[in-house]
Parts: sequence; structure tokens; C-alpha cells
Amino acid sequence: MAKITEVRCIRTRINGTWTIVKVLTDQPGLYGIGSASDHYHPKAVIDTIEDLIAPQLIGRDVAQIENIWQTMYSVAYWRNGALTNTALGGIDMALWDIKGKEANLPVYQLLGGACRSAVPCYAHAGGADIDSLEQEIRMYLEEGYPVVRCQLGGYGGGGFVPPEKAVRPRNAWGQQPAFDDEAYIRMIPEMFEALRSRLGPEPKLTHDVHEHLRPQSAVTLSKRLEPYDLFFLEDVLSPEQIAWFRLIREQCTTPQAMGELFVNPQEWLPLISERLIDYIRVRVSKAGGITPCRKIAALCEAFGVNTAWQEGGDNDPVNQMAAVHLDMASWSFGIQEENHFRSEEYDAFPGHAVLEGGHLYANDAPGLGIDIHEERATALLDPAEVARPRPAAEDRRADGSVVRP
Ligand SMILES: [Mg+2]
Repeated sequence: MAKITEVRCIRTRINGTWTIVKVLTDQPGLYGIGSASDHYHPKAVIDTIEDLIAPQLIGRDVAQIENIWQTMYSVAYWRNGALTNTALGGIDMALWDIKGKEANLPVYQLLGGACRSAVPCYAHAGGADIDSLEQEIRMYLEEGYPVVRCQLGGYGGGGFVPPEKAVRPRNAWGQQPAFDDEAYIRMIPEMFEALRSRLGPEPKLTHDVHEHLRPQSAVTLSKRLEPYDLFFLEDVLSPEQIAWFRLIREQCTTPQAMGELFVNPQEWLPLISERLIDYIRVRVSKAGGITPCRKIAALCEAFGVNTAWQEGGDNDPVNQMAAVHLDMASWSFGIQEENHFRSEEYDAFPGHAVLEGGHLYANDAPGLGIDIHEERATALLDPAEVARPRPAAEDRRADGSVVRP
């Protein structure tokens, strides 16, 4: 029986936003790693792990993943917070990594074995105008991506009124482009009209709203996009307004993907069990790791919903690998969000998943199959970048009110 002897965190990436937790045992060479990255507040997660969770873990039997998860879930009494979940998620992945190493099997084998040969991904295409967007979509389709996300403009993907055209009060707080619901729900259907006329009906396309819309605009947009046969529409509502999914369902068949900001089972449970969404998009670490996500995948299977675990720019290669193992073993898998890294970042994570031709490939090494090269990982840090504050995008309407990201 292997016992936990040490739990520590390694910060990496140029800005230190990736936190990899390492769980060590009393067995020579036996350890596991997990992703505990939080882009906005890495130090809070590290404190949670090192000050709160680690002292509770020392001496515990690494084999008891479920028992440890359930115990640590309420270790801070208040639970289902983004930061405590991330800490728990990192520990949980590391324990699955250890279990796989002990069993001499990759994690996806422990989860029931492969039910697909690789993991299909969706790419992120974006452009300032339709021509450049079309070019990017074609590039990704040729590369082999089965699904492509289509965004017009920068983060937020359209709906911004240029500074000179925004109707502002005389005491306006700023002159940045203003987000406008009506512009958005006009521009995005126009974008898909143009894309379908240029690309035809076959390409599988999605769009991410980034929760920017007022709920009634979200219903209208979903309905207006129906003729363009989207693979899914992502985050059309903010987590505070998920009850509106019922109205969307009553209005149209546009498939809905939701959940990258979810941290509480009460957010995803009703949407899955009442069949109000089609794809659940929780980030594996933010739900609390592989243990809760394999249960979400099983729940999805029962209710005919699919998984589309969140990835994207601020995720690390360990979280991606955890998602890949779930994807390989979950029948309810739908699609995986793509993520790719710089070559020096890959170098710090030997055994990382391989992204090739729009598909992610795991490996058959025991455990998660990914490791961290600590020296290379630490060498990536730039103290000036680490010290820089990282606020989330701050978009505003013409009157100055903030739009939730
Ligand atoms: Mg998204």
C-alpha cells in the first residue's frame, strides 16, 4: 500500500499561470501529477493545496481516490468554489496518475478502456472579416479538424459597435468599441449566411457567444441561427441565467453547448437531466478532476447529452491529458476543444498528448502518460510576466455598463 508523503506545487509557463501539483508517495519513484492551474489567481490555489489540503493528505493510502475526493471536497467546509475545485482537481488527477502507474495501465484503461481510436477536436477560427475567417476555416478543415468554431473579430466574436458609431452619453467613461446585443444578433447570423454560401452545408461549424448576451437576445440568436445547422452554439447564456435554456428549447433546434464556467453540480445537473443542452463544457480541473467528470460523462450517457470538455488558451497540457483520457473512455463524448502549446512548453511536459490533423492522441504509458520536467518548467518563468496582473476581458455597453465575460 503506497502512502502519500508529500504534496507540492510547481508553477510554470512564462507568466506562472500554470500550476502542476505533484503527489509523492513512500514507494521509490512513484508519484503523480495533476493540473491545478488558475489563470487569474494561481497563488490562491497553491495556498489551498499547500496549507489546507496537503497536511490532510500525508499518510493517506493513494489507492482510495474516491474516499480522498469525498473527504477533500468539504475540507474547507464551503465547497464548489472555482479555486477549491481547482485544487481538488489537481490532486485527483495526480491520484489517477498514480493508480495507473501502480496498475501499469493508462488511465483510460482504468476508466473502462478505449471506445474510440483518437479524440476529434474543434479548432478556433477567427477573422476581422468574412474573407479572413473563411480562409482560416478552410485551413483547419484541410488540416483534418472535423469541427471548426467561427468567430468574427476578437474575444466576444462580433457585436461591437466602433467607437465613432456608438451612441454614448455626454459623460461617457470611455471611447472603446461598445458591445451591443442587437448588433450581435444581427451580425452573427449574417456571418453564418455568408459562410454557408461560401463553404456549403457540409462543414461542421460552431460559434461561442462568451455569455455576452442578455437572455432574451440569446433566445433570438439561437432561433435566427437555426437555418445554418450549427454543430453547436456555445455559452449563449451566462451561468446566472441558465433557466432560459428551457425557452430556447421551446423555440428552436440549435444545439446548445454550455458550462465552461460551471463549478457546482447544481448548474449542470438540471441542464443534463432535463435535456436542456446538448454538450456539457465543464473544464475538468474546475469540476474537481477526473472523479467528478467521469460521473458527469455517465450522467450524459443516460440523458443523451454529449461531453465537450473545455480547453482553450489558459489551460495546461496536464488538464488536456486528463480530458483526453476521459474522451477516450466515455461513450457520451461529443467533441474536444482544441488546445496547443509552444514548443518549449511541450518540452517541459514529456509524454504530452499529440495534436495531429485535428485529433488528439494519448499514449499507452501507465497513468496519465504525461510528466513534468521540473527544470525546464521552472526555466519558462519570467518574473516580470509573473508579477503582471491578469484581469479578465472587460467589455462594456455604450452606456458604460459591464458585459459579463
Ligand atoms: Mg468558450
